[in-house]
Amino acid sequence: MSPYTLVLHGGAGTILKSQLSADMESRYTQALEKALQTGWDILHTGGSALDAVEKTVRELEDCPLFNAGRGAVFNARGEHEMDAAIMDGKDRRAGAVALLRNVRNPVSLARAIMEQSPHVFLAGEGAEEFARQQGIATEEPAYFHDEFRYRQWLELRDSDSVQLDHSRSEKASGPADQKFGTVGAAALDQHGNLAAATSTGGMTNKRFGRIGDSSLIGAGNYASNRSCAVSCTGSGEFFIRAVAAYDLSCLMEYRGMSLEEAAREVVHERLVAIGGDGGLIAVDALGNFALPFNTEGMYRAAQSSSGRRFTGIYGPE
Ligand code: ASP
Repeated sequence: MSPYTLVLHGGAGTILKSQLSADMESRYTQALEKALQTGWDILHTGGSALDAVEKTVRELEDCPLFNAGRGAVFNARGEHEMDAAIMDGKDRRAGAVALLRNVRNPVSLARAIMEQSPHVFLAGEGAEEFARQQGIATEEPAYFHDEFRYRQWLELRDSDSVQLDHSRSEKASGPADQKFGTVGAAALDQHGNLAAATSTGGMTNKRFGRIGDSSLIGAGNYASNRSCAVSCTGSGEFFIRAVAAYDLSCLMEYRGMSLEEAAREVVHERLVAIGGDGGLIAVDALGNFALPFNTEGMYRAAQSSSGRRFTGIYGPE
């Protein structure tokens, strides 16, 4: 039997056991498990890695615990601007969206751009218009309003600070047990194809118009059957400068590193060297996976046909 594997994340950051109540820990674990099961059912029954990562990410976008889709954070204008990307490792087709205000599941719009348009990346008004033409569900701003996330923004709004939404500023006084994060999934299917998807609300109090790494192919998301499928989370500006996801793929393809070595090099050496905090999830063509992060924690889960099933929140990795 050909191996198959699914990994997912719900964001990395200052996630400490001492700050998460037992109730919140169990809600996060259940949400991660549910999303894992959604994607796993697809892979297990012979479905494609592309379907698995899209459906897994949709599940996480619909969950208000995470900073994507429904749970997207507020920008400096007190609005939501969501970014997402998806990539098929088989032929390296890709779709990406940025600055979405109303699309319920940004990852599905990214996929529609990949499959139904000659383009890779649409942003703002044009992306929303394409969504309407494709019959993709949209929502009023109230759907994306989360009270905790709103208070999180109120604390930063008069400053120049931006914040990973699961890291707390010194001023932050919101309940410590509510943290959220960008979401992503990477998969290898039974046919030997890899795919990755990532979706985010970005960083709290980000400037209007700011686009992070999540929707940039090669920065926060990448898949190639020649190497790996990867989805990143963390301070997007650093992941963009490091071209992190593609760098991981290159270290494997050109340097012959294993997935684990390459993932460690990117997260613990190259990102750290420029001050980038965060993590990534990745799968290779043999079904091996790596889930490294250089922050206190990362919401994460993995399952592979070798029998391994894992859900984690805190460090160490
Ligand atoms: N990487 C995302 C961004 O910069 C944030 C995150 O991963 O939580 O938009």
